[in-house]
Amino acid sequence: MVDVKKLKELLKDEPSYRITQAERAIYKDFVSDWSQVTTLPLPLRERLQSELPLDISAELLISSKKDTLKAVITLKDGFSIESVLMRHADKKRSKTGGGSTSTNKEIYKCTNEDKDKIKQEAVQKFRNTVCESSQIGCPLSCLFCTTGKLEFKRNLTADEIVDQVLFFSRYLKEEGASVNNVVFMGMGEPFLNYDNVMSAVRILNDKNKFNIGARHISISTCGIPERIYDFAKEGLQVNLAISLNAPNDEIRSRLMPINKRYPIGELLKTVKFYIEKTNRRVMFEYVMVQDLNDAPSHAKELARLVKGLLCFVNLIPCNASPYNFLCHKGNWDIVYYKGNRNYQACLTDDKWGVTENVKSVEGRSSSSKNGSIKKSKNFESINLDNLLKPSTRKRISEFKKILSESGITVTERFRFGVDIRGACGELVYRFKKG
Ligand code: SAH
Repeated sequence: MVDVKKLKELLKDEPSYRITQAERAIYKDFVSDWSQVTTLPLPLRERLQSELPLDISAELLISSKKDTLKAVITLKDGFSIESVLMRHADKKRSKTGGGSTSTNKEIYKCTNEDKDKIKQEAVQKFRNTVCESSQIGCPLSCLFCTTGKLEFKRNLTADEIVDQVLFFSRYLKEEGASVNNVVFMGMGEPFLNYDNVMSAVRILNDKNKFNIGARHISISTCGIPERIYDFAKEGLQVNLAISLNAPNDEIRSRLMPINKRYPIGELLKTVKFYIEKTNRRVMFEYVMVQDLNDAPSHAKELARLVKGLLCFVNLIPCNASPYNFLCHKGNWDIVYYKGNRNYQACLTDDKWGVTENVKSVEGRSSSSKNGSIKKSKNFESINLDNLLKPSTRKRISEFKKILSESGITVTERFRFGVDIRGACGELVYRFKKG
């Protein structure tokens, strides 16, 4: 982990430009080893290497389509958090990078500076978006979200938040690419960890560090009014996304308990303040759950609610794997289908346990493909009929049409990384012993 406070402490007796050199190496050159920082004198490099190693301990999972990577990053206190890199093929960029004769001719005619730029764009035919976690677990307990089923552990520090982008920046550097966008849509509620999130945003945005444009950073929140006021006054061009998810208080309170504390009226009042203050377009996120918030009447109600606001609505088909409905305090996993529309889940130390061949009965030992599960107490049965389900395509299209016809701009979120449980609402933490 990169501990900035410790770095400053270690360099306090050095000339002041040393900190600039060190930070450049970390946040611009993305080095993972001090020995690569040849701008620093050798003894200093060696000292930093032994006292402040730059390793980020992580395990990487890649989706079958290769468009999503999930990093399971282990923190100093043994908790691991999850962070996701999504790679959208970028038409604009691929065109430049297509290697066609005409493009090559253009390169030939350009100045050296232009040539470098085009070369860089050619390599980067993907838009690389990192989905950041801001907390270990989440105290909000939204009905559809796996993270919210876990116990809240603690806020992440600014360094831990930055490390997630740093990890993927190092990975992308290998192919000459970089992180273009950052969204705070991973584990946790960013506005319940406001100061650390804002410190991280400043590092990501800093021209001398990651240099990710503020307009390429988005913070998604369930809507904590006080923090929306603060955010409006920051004077930053960072995007604000509000997890609305329902057209009225009755449904929203069912889906998101926080709504009982801050009902929609109060939330929208602060959103209006934000828009007036910043003149920036707000994104309303709307997770679409079958038969819960996806009826045409809900679309009409939603349109009335947000009409006239500088905003757009982003529809998200609910990711509703059985995992979303299992929670255990401690290690958890392993689900299996019993054949009678029941799943069973049991506690296990098996890290990425495969669900086949599991026969577990409370207190008895059982085995799985990945080894044996000794004490599988605390299992629970879940009836599939009780699970939330994603809205059908037909429902989503109807919903979209109603919103568009009411003059509301509407988009739909692409689903990334479902097979590695890296999609919206699927991130979890684990605690590694020892
Ligand atoms: N706490 C913040 C950020 C984390 S959730 C917030 O509430 O916005 C990020 C986004 O993922 C939110 O829009 C949330 O509504 C969405 N989300 C959570 N669980 C989901 C699920 N199971 N399927 C689809 N989207 C989900």
